[in-house]
Amino acid sequence: MPTYDDTNIFARILRGEIPNKTVLETEHTLAFEDIRPQAPVHVLVIPKGAYVSYDDFAQNASDAEIVDFTRTVGRLTRDLGVDLDGGNGHRVIANAGEYGLQEVPHFHMHILGGRSLGRMLQ
Ligand code: 5GP
Repeated sequence: MPTYDDTNIFARILRGEIPNKTVLETEHTLAFEDIRPQAPVHVLVIPKGAYVSYDDFAQNASDAEIVDFTRTVGRLTRDLGVDLDGGNGHRVIANAGEYGLQEVPHFHMHILGGRSLGRMLQ
């Protein structure tokens, strides 16, 4: 597993060193607005624990952290109005590493919505 660098920007947000626009906070998870939104809805969801990638999180987080994080991502799609019961849908993305163009090496999910997002996969 990759080594976690605790100077990354999301670690600093979690330590309260940098402000953020929090959308939802639970025991193990923090959701906040992306500073450079790519869509009308663009929220980042991060576990509070120190994980670099989806795989790092999936293999090393506790069941409680994984359940909390997963349910929070799902719940947010409803809270943000981009669910399938009244919203127009959304995209959930996790970038990893060089080819995934991951900018911040703390595992996170992007929730994007509020406009048609275009086709990524052909
Ligand atoms: P990645 O490319 O790592 O998947 O995405 C990182 C995201 O973090 C980018 O969408 C970027 O706009 C966002 N970001 C980078 N620095 C900050 C920050 O200081 N605050 C917030 N709220 N978002 C940030």
